[in-house]
Amino acid sequence: MNSIETVAVVGGGPAGIACAIWLKRLGLLPKIFERHHLGGQLHDITLPLQDVPGFYGADVSVLLADLVQQLHQMEIDVYEEHDVVAFDEAEKLLTCADGATYHAQAVVYAPGLRTRDLKVPGAQWVTSLSTSALLAQPLAGEVLIVGGGDRAFEAALRLSEAGKTVRLIHRRDHFRARPDFQQRVRDLGIPVHVNTIVEAITRTQGGVEVVLKGPRTTKRVKAAVVMVRIGMEPDIQPGLCSSVLSDVVPLWPSSRLRVIGDAVTPVPFRSIVTAFASGMVAAKEMVMNPPWRS
Ligand SMILES: Cc1cc2nc3c(=O)[nH]c(=O)nc-3n(C[C@H](O)[C@H](O)[C@H](O)COP(=O)(O)OP(=O)(O)OC[C@H]3O[C@@H](n4cnc5c(N)ncnc54)[C@H](O)[C@@H]3O)c2cc1C
Repeated sequence: MNSIETVAVVGGGPAGIACAIWLKRLGLLPKIFERHHLGGQLHDITLPLQDVPGFYGADVSVLLADLVQQLHQMEIDVYEEHDVVAFDEAEKLLTCADGATYHAQAVVYAPGLRTRDLKVPGAQWVTSLSTSALLAQPLAGEVLIVGGGDRAFEAALRLSEAGKTVRLIHRRDHFRARPDFQQRVRDLGIPVHVNTIVEAITRTQGGVEVVLKGPRTTKRVKAAVVMVRIGMEPDIQPGLCSSVLSDVVPLWPSSRLRVIGDAVTPVPFRSIVTAFASGMVAAKEMVMNPPWRS
Protein backbone atom coordinates (compact mmCIF):
# COMPACT_ATOMS: atom_id res chain seq x y z
CA MET A 1 0.00 0.00 0.00
CA ASN A 2 1.29 3.51 -0.82
CA SER A 3 2.14 5.69 2.18
CA ILE A 4 0.44 9.06 2.50
CA GLU A 5 2.80 11.84 1.42
CA THR A 6 3.63 14.54 3.95
CA VAL A 7 3.41 18.12 2.71
CA ALA A 8 4.77 20.95 4.86
CA VAL A 9 2.73 24.13 4.73
CA VAL A 10 4.96 26.98 5.91
CA GLY A 11 2.88 29.90 7.15
CA GLY A 12 -0.36 29.69 9.09
CA GLY A 13 -2.25 32.64 7.60
CA PRO A 14 -5.40 32.25 5.44
CA ALA A 15 -3.43 30.90 2.44
CA GLY A 16 -1.58 28.25 4.43
CA ILE A 17 -4.67 27.21 6.39
CA ALA A 18 -6.80 26.87 3.23
CA CYS A 19 -4.06 24.91 1.49
CA ALA A 20 -3.72 22.48 4.40
CA ILE A 21 -7.50 21.92 4.42
CA TRP A 22 -7.51 21.13 0.69
CA LEU A 23 -4.43 18.90 0.91
CA LYS A 24 -6.08 16.88 3.64
CA ARG A 25 -9.34 16.61 1.70
CA LEU A 26 -7.37 15.40 -1.32
CA GLY A 27 -5.76 12.58 0.65
CA LEU A 28 -2.35 14.02 1.57
CA LEU A 29 -0.85 14.62 5.01
CA PRO A 30 -0.36 18.38 5.54
CA LYS A 31 1.55 19.80 8.51
CA ILE A 32 1.36 23.54 9.15
CA PHE A 33 4.47 25.33 10.47
CA GLU A 34 3.77 28.81 11.84
CA ARG A 35 6.39 31.21 13.21
CA HIS A 36 4.00 32.77 15.72
CA HIS A 37 0.35 31.76 16.06
CA LEU A 38 -2.19 30.81 13.42
CA GLY A 39 -3.85 33.74 11.66
CA GLY A 40 -1.14 35.84 10.04
CA GLN A 41 -2.40 39.29 9.10
CA LEU A 42 -5.86 38.42 10.44
CA HIS A 43 -4.43 39.52 13.80
CA ASP A 44 -4.00 43.06 12.39
CA ILE A 45 -7.59 43.47 11.20
CA THR A 46 -9.44 45.60 13.70
CA LEU A 47 -12.57 46.67 11.81
CA PRO A 48 -15.59 44.40 11.12
CA LEU A 49 -15.21 42.31 7.95
CA GLN A 50 -16.99 43.69 4.86
CA ASP A 51 -15.70 41.54 2.03
CA VAL A 52 -15.42 37.94 3.18
CA PRO A 53 -18.52 36.15 1.89
CA GLY A 54 -20.48 34.65 4.78
CA PHE A 55 -18.79 36.88 7.38
CA TYR A 56 -20.29 40.29 6.57
CA GLY A 57 -19.96 42.59 9.58
CA ALA A 58 -18.31 39.89 11.69
CA ASP A 59 -15.30 40.41 13.90
CA VAL A 60 -12.26 38.74 12.32
CA SER A 61 -11.83 36.66 15.50
CA VAL A 62 -14.99 34.73 14.50
CA LEU A 63 -13.44 33.76 11.16
CA LEU A 64 -10.13 32.83 12.79
CA ALA A 65 -11.82 30.72 15.48
CA ASP A 66 -13.77 28.84 12.76
CA LEU A 67 -10.57 28.18 10.79
CA VAL A 68 -8.70 26.92 13.86
CA GLN A 69 -11.64 24.70 14.79
CA GLN A 70 -11.78 23.24 11.28
CA LEU A 71 -8.06 22.36 11.39
CA HIS A 72 -8.70 20.65 14.71
CA GLN A 73 -11.76 18.78 13.43
CA MET A 74 -9.86 17.62 10.33
CA GLU A 75 -6.98 16.48 12.56
CA ILE A 76 -4.41 18.61 10.72
CA ASP A 77 -1.12 18.93 12.62
CA VAL A 78 -0.15 22.48 13.52
CA TYR A 79 3.33 23.41 14.76
CA GLU A 80 3.07 26.93 16.18
CA GLU A 81 6.17 28.93 17.20
CA HIS A 82 8.13 27.07 14.51
CA ASP A 83 10.13 29.47 12.33
CA VAL A 84 11.17 27.61 9.17
CA VAL A 85 14.50 28.80 7.78
CA ALA A 86 15.38 26.29 5.05
CA PHE A 87 14.15 23.48 2.84
CA ASP A 88 16.56 21.03 1.23
CA GLU A 89 14.76 19.71 -1.86
CA ALA A 90 17.23 16.86 -2.41
CA GLU A 91 17.04 15.62 1.18
CA LYS A 92 13.37 16.65 1.50
CA LEU A 93 14.22 18.20 4.83
CA LEU A 94 12.74 21.27 6.45
CA THR A 95 14.85 23.11 9.06
CA CYS A 96 13.54 25.45 11.76
CA ALA A 97 15.38 28.32 13.45
CA ASP A 98 16.02 26.19 16.56
CA GLY A 99 17.72 23.50 14.42
CA ALA A 100 14.83 21.00 14.50
CA THR A 101 14.29 19.18 11.19
CA TYR A 102 11.20 17.63 9.64
CA HIS A 103 10.73 15.43 6.61
CA ALA A 104 8.39 16.64 3.83
CA GLN A 105 7.88 15.52 0.25
CA ALA A 106 6.99 19.07 -0.78
CA VAL A 107 6.53 22.52 0.70
CA VAL A 108 3.76 25.01 0.15
CA TYR A 109 5.25 28.31 1.28
CA ALA A 110 2.69 30.92 2.38
CA PRO A 111 4.79 33.52 4.23
CA GLY A 112 2.61 36.56 3.67
CA LEU A 113 4.07 40.02 4.17
CA ARG A 114 6.19 41.90 6.65
CA THR A 115 6.01 45.60 7.47
CA ARG A 116 8.53 47.67 5.58
CA ASP A 117 11.07 49.26 7.93
CA LEU A 118 11.74 52.96 8.27
CA LYS A 119 15.37 53.47 7.31
CA VAL A 120 16.37 56.31 9.65
CA PRO A 121 18.67 56.61 12.67
CA GLY A 122 16.85 55.25 15.72
CA ALA A 123 14.47 53.05 13.69
CA GLN A 124 14.94 50.37 16.37
CA TRP A 125 12.73 52.48 18.65
CA VAL A 126 9.69 52.05 16.39
CA THR A 127 7.16 49.95 18.26
CA SER A 128 6.72 46.36 17.15
CA LEU A 129 3.31 46.20 18.85
CA SER A 130 0.14 45.69 16.83
CA THR A 131 -2.78 48.10 17.10
CA SER A 132 -4.62 45.63 19.34
CA ALA A 133 -1.61 45.32 21.63
CA LEU A 134 -1.25 49.12 21.84
CA LEU A 135 -4.93 49.44 22.74
CA ALA A 136 -4.29 47.32 25.80
CA GLN A 137 -1.36 49.50 26.94
CA PRO A 138 -1.60 52.55 29.21
CA LEU A 139 0.11 55.21 27.04
CA ALA A 140 1.51 58.41 28.52
CA GLY A 141 1.41 60.61 25.42
CA GLU A 142 0.68 60.54 21.72
CA VAL A 143 0.95 57.73 19.23
CA LEU A 144 2.72 58.96 16.07
CA ILE A 145 1.68 56.86 13.09
CA VAL A 146 3.81 57.07 9.95
CA GLY A 147 2.07 56.19 6.67
CA GLY A 148 -0.74 57.17 4.33
CA GLY A 149 -2.41 53.89 3.41
CA ASP A 150 -5.23 51.79 4.83
CA ARG A 151 -3.11 50.25 7.57
CA ALA A 152 -1.94 53.61 8.89
CA PHE A 153 -5.44 55.08 8.77
CA GLU A 154 -7.06 51.98 10.26
CA ALA A 155 -4.62 52.07 13.17
CA ALA A 156 -5.24 55.81 13.68
CA LEU A 157 -9.02 55.37 13.67
CA ARG A 158 -9.02 52.42 16.01
CA LEU A 159 -6.67 54.05 18.53
CA SER A 160 -8.42 57.41 18.38
CA GLU A 161 -11.88 55.89 18.77
CA ALA A 162 -10.58 54.08 21.86
CA GLY A 163 -9.51 57.39 23.39
CA LYS A 164 -5.79 57.41 22.55
CA THR A 165 -4.18 60.60 21.21
CA VAL A 166 -2.97 60.03 17.68
CA ARG A 167 -1.12 61.97 14.98
CA LEU A 168 -0.51 60.86 11.39
CA ILE A 169 2.69 61.63 9.50
CA HIS A 170 2.80 61.22 5.73
CA ARG A 171 5.53 62.06 3.24
CA ARG A 172 3.09 63.07 0.46
CA ASP A 173 0.06 65.37 0.31
CA HIS A 174 -2.32 62.67 -0.94
CA PHE A 175 -3.22 59.35 0.60
CA ARG A 176 -3.67 55.78 -0.59
CA ALA A 177 -6.12 55.09 2.27
CA ARG A 178 -9.77 54.38 1.43
CA PRO A 179 -11.86 57.55 1.08
CA ASP A 180 -14.16 56.54 3.97
CA PHE A 181 -11.12 56.12 6.26
CA GLN A 182 -9.89 59.58 5.20
CA GLN A 183 -13.31 61.09 5.92
CA ARG A 184 -13.45 59.50 9.37
CA VAL A 185 -9.97 60.79 10.20
CA ARG A 186 -11.16 64.28 9.26
CA ASP A 187 -14.37 63.85 11.29
CA LEU A 188 -12.41 62.80 14.36
CA GLY A 189 -10.04 65.77 13.95
CA ILE A 190 -6.93 63.59 13.97
CA PRO A 191 -3.95 65.84 13.15
CA VAL A 192 -2.27 64.89 9.86
CA HIS A 193 1.16 66.22 8.84
CA VAL A 194 1.59 66.00 5.07
CA ASN A 195 4.81 66.39 3.08
CA THR A 196 6.57 65.44 6.28
CA ILE A 197 9.25 62.82 6.84
CA VAL A 198 10.74 61.27 9.95
CA GLU A 199 14.45 62.07 10.07
CA ALA A 200 15.46 60.41 13.33
CA ILE A 201 14.08 58.83 16.49
CA THR A 202 15.64 58.89 19.93
CA ARG A 203 14.52 57.15 23.07
CA THR A 204 13.48 59.32 26.00
CA GLN A 205 12.36 58.50 29.48
CA GLY A 206 8.91 57.01 29.00
CA GLY A 207 8.75 57.40 25.23
CA VAL A 208 10.45 58.66 22.09
CA GLU A 209 11.43 61.96 20.49
CA VAL A 210 10.95 62.15 16.74
CA VAL A 211 12.58 64.64 14.38
CA LEU A 212 9.99 65.63 11.76
CA LYS A 213 11.06 67.48 8.62
CA GLY A 214 8.11 69.33 7.11
CA PRO A 215 7.86 71.53 4.02
CA ARG A 216 9.02 74.61 5.92
CA THR A 217 10.44 73.59 9.30
CA THR A 218 12.09 70.75 11.14
CA LYS A 219 10.80 70.09 14.64
CA ARG A 220 11.15 67.63 17.49
CA VAL A 221 7.98 65.97 18.73
CA LYS A 222 7.69 63.90 21.88
CA ALA A 223 5.45 60.82 21.77
CA ALA A 224 4.69 57.72 23.78
CA VAL A 225 5.35 55.50 20.76
CA VAL A 226 5.98 55.73 17.05
CA MET A 227 4.26 53.22 14.83
CA VAL A 228 5.28 52.67 11.20
CA ARG A 229 2.76 51.56 8.58
CA ILE A 230 4.50 52.47 5.30
CA GLY A 231 3.65 49.38 3.35
CA MET A 232 4.39 45.72 3.29
CA GLU A 233 6.81 43.50 1.39
CA PRO A 234 6.90 39.71 0.80
CA ASP A 235 8.36 37.97 3.84
CA ILE A 236 10.49 35.60 1.76
CA GLN A 237 13.19 33.71 3.66
CA PRO A 238 16.33 33.25 1.48
CA GLY A 239 16.89 29.71 2.81
CA LEU A 240 13.54 28.71 1.35
CA CYS A 241 13.49 30.79 -1.81
CA SER A 242 16.66 32.28 -3.17
CA SER A 243 15.38 33.35 -6.57
CA VAL A 244 13.66 36.58 -7.43
CA LEU A 245 9.92 36.63 -6.91
CA SER A 246 8.93 36.24 -10.53
CA ASP A 247 10.80 32.92 -10.55
CA VAL A 248 9.41 31.46 -7.35
CA VAL A 249 6.00 30.29 -8.47
CA PRO A 250 6.97 27.18 -10.42
CA LEU A 251 4.22 24.69 -10.98
CA TRP A 252 4.50 21.24 -9.52
CA PRO A 253 6.33 19.03 -10.36
CA SER A 254 9.30 21.14 -11.56
CA SER A 255 10.00 22.10 -7.95
CA ARG A 256 9.05 20.67 -4.58
CA LEU A 257 8.41 24.19 -3.26
CA ARG A 258 5.72 26.59 -4.33
CA VAL A 259 4.94 30.08 -2.98
CA ILE A 260 1.31 31.12 -2.50
CA GLY A 261 -0.78 33.87 -0.88
CA ASP A 262 -0.02 37.57 -0.45
CA ALA A 263 3.72 37.04 -0.98
CA VAL A 264 3.09 36.45 -4.69
CA THR A 265 -0.20 38.27 -5.21
CA PRO A 266 -0.20 41.72 -6.87
CA VAL A 267 -1.11 44.46 -4.39
CA PRO A 268 -4.69 45.22 -5.59
CA PHE A 269 -5.67 41.55 -5.33
CA ARG A 270 -4.30 40.77 -1.87
CA SER A 271 -7.18 39.61 0.33
CA ILE A 272 -8.41 36.81 2.52
CA VAL A 273 -10.43 35.36 -0.35
CA THR A 274 -7.52 35.34 -2.84
CA ALA A 275 -5.33 33.79 -0.13
CA PHE A 276 -7.90 31.01 0.36
CA ALA A 277 -8.10 30.49 -3.42
CA SER A 278 -4.33 30.33 -3.87
CA GLY A 279 -4.17 27.61 -1.21
CA MET A 280 -6.82 25.59 -2.99
CA VAL A 281 -5.14 25.95 -6.41
CA ALA A 282 -1.72 24.86 -5.09
CA ALA A 283 -3.22 21.81 -3.36
CA LYS A 284 -5.22 20.68 -6.40
CA GLU A 285 -2.33 21.23 -8.80
CA MET A 286 -0.05 19.23 -6.51
CA VAL A 287 -2.44 16.30 -6.60
CA MET A 288 -2.72 16.54 -10.40
CA ASN A 289 1.10 16.74 -10.86
CA PRO A 290 2.77 15.31 -7.76
CA PRO A 291 6.38 16.54 -7.49
CA TRP A 292 7.44 13.21 -5.92
CA ARG A 293 6.48 11.33 -9.11
CA SER A 294 8.64 13.35 -11.50
C1 LIG B 1 -4.76 45.92 8.77
C2 LIG B 1 -5.20 44.91 7.72
C3 LIG B 1 -6.54 44.85 7.37
C4 LIG B 1 -6.95 43.94 6.40
N1 LIG B 1 -8.28 43.88 6.10
C5 LIG B 1 -8.71 42.96 5.19
C6 LIG B 1 -10.10 42.84 4.89
O1 LIG B 1 -10.94 43.54 5.46
N2 LIG B 1 -10.47 41.93 3.94
C7 LIG B 1 -9.56 41.12 3.30
O2 LIG B 1 -9.96 40.30 2.46
N3 LIG B 1 -8.23 41.22 3.58
C8 LIG B 1 -7.79 42.11 4.51
N4 LIG B 1 -6.46 42.20 4.79
C9 LIG B 1 -5.50 41.37 4.01
C10 LIG B 1 -5.50 39.90 4.46
O3 LIG B 1 -5.37 39.81 5.86
C11 LIG B 1 -4.34 39.21 3.74
O4 LIG B 1 -4.54 39.34 2.34
C12 LIG B 1 -4.23 37.72 4.11
O5 LIG B 1 -4.08 37.55 5.50
C13 LIG B 1 -3.03 37.09 3.38
O6 LIG B 1 -2.91 35.76 3.79
P1 LIG B 1 -1.52 34.96 3.66
O7 LIG B 1 -1.81 33.63 4.29
O8 LIG B 1 -1.01 35.03 2.28
O9 LIG B 1 -0.46 35.78 4.55
P2 LIG B 1 -0.45 36.20 6.11
O10 LIG B 1 -1.83 36.44 6.61
O11 LIG B 1 0.53 37.30 6.16
O12 LIG B 1 0.13 34.91 6.85
C14 LIG B 1 1.45 34.48 6.68
C15 LIG B 1 1.88 33.69 7.90
O13 LIG B 1 3.11 33.02 7.62
C16 LIG B 1 3.94 33.04 8.78
N5 LIG B 1 5.32 32.85 8.35
C17 LIG B 1 6.04 33.65 7.52
N6 LIG B 1 7.27 33.14 7.32
C18 LIG B 1 7.33 32.00 8.06
C19 LIG B 1 8.36 31.03 8.26
N7 LIG B 1 9.56 31.14 7.66
N8 LIG B 1 8.10 29.99 9.10
C20 LIG B 1 6.89 29.88 9.69
N9 LIG B 1 5.88 30.77 9.52
C21 LIG B 1 6.09 31.82 8.71
C22 LIG B 1 3.67 34.41 9.38
O14 LIG B 1 4.01 34.41 10.76
C23 LIG B 1 2.16 34.55 9.13
O15 LIG B 1 1.42 34.04 10.24
C24 LIG B 1 -6.00 43.08 5.76
C25 LIG B 1 -4.66 43.14 6.12
C26 LIG B 1 -4.26 44.04 7.10
C27 LIG B 1 -2.80 44.08 7.49
